Amino acid sequence: MNIKILFDNYSGNERLRIGWGVSFLIDETILFDTGENGDWLLHNMDLLNVDISKLAAVVISHDHWDHTGGLATLLANKNGLLVYGCEGFSPEFCAMVQHAGGKLMEYRHSIEIAPHIYVSGEITGEYKQAPISEQALIVEENNDITIITGCAHAGICRVVGRIQEEFPGREIRLLMGGFHLMTEQIADIHKIAHDLRLLGIQNVGPTHCSGEAAIDIFKTIFGKHCIAIQTGLMLDTHRLPA
Ligand SMILES: [Zn+2]
Ligand SMILES: [Zn+2]
Repeated sequence: MNIKILFDNYSGNERLRIGWGVSFLIDETILFDTGENGDWLLHNMDLLNVDISKLAAVVISHDHWDHTGGLATLLANKNGLLVYGCEGFSPEFCAMVQHAGGKLMEYRHSIEIAPHIYVSGEITGEYKQAPISEQALIVEENNDITIITGCAHAGICRVVGRIQEEFPGREIRLLMGGFHLMTEQIADIHKIAHDLRLLGIQNVGPTHCSGEAAIDIFKTIFGKHCIAIQTGLMLDTHRLPA
């Protein structure tokens, strides 16, 4: 499986736009999140040779501006695109998708949205003392899975635990995305990184709201199995460190 990083806050190429939020393209057909700005997303898609006509669906992890920000512009350029959300997303989000010409699909439970590609179903977290609905993306390859998260507001270990219940006995080849550890204490981040190792995760790719401190800790604990995520990177899950 190929994962192209279309948007996040890191890049090794100064021609690419960076900013807050994430957008990842899976096997050229499924987009996960849209970053904070649609023009910037389209600019990067253009530079990274993304063929928008091949897009089959966009999965939105959760209803926060840094994940939905590019959606309306994307839909304006790709009318009728399937948009996978959660039932708990706001009425404003649903209205925006409809207005922009997207076809909204909302699920509470895990479902397969394309061959071997699944949404996790709604995992409720907390943000500013209010509940927030969020979903992750899961890609299945042989007996392994890759988990892709937006912000993991429910807690990254809880997200992984929930997905392991849905996919029992699977090895987790890669866990990547926002782990939301920016406001955690250093000792707690260490514990979380160790817990993720104990859960059998082979490779991690923390970015976005994982925060600099957490990324450094993950580098220490996972070594070469901590992948530096940056805009423009093309990841082949078959070529991850063994
Ligand atoms: Zn975020
Ligand atoms: Zn968020």
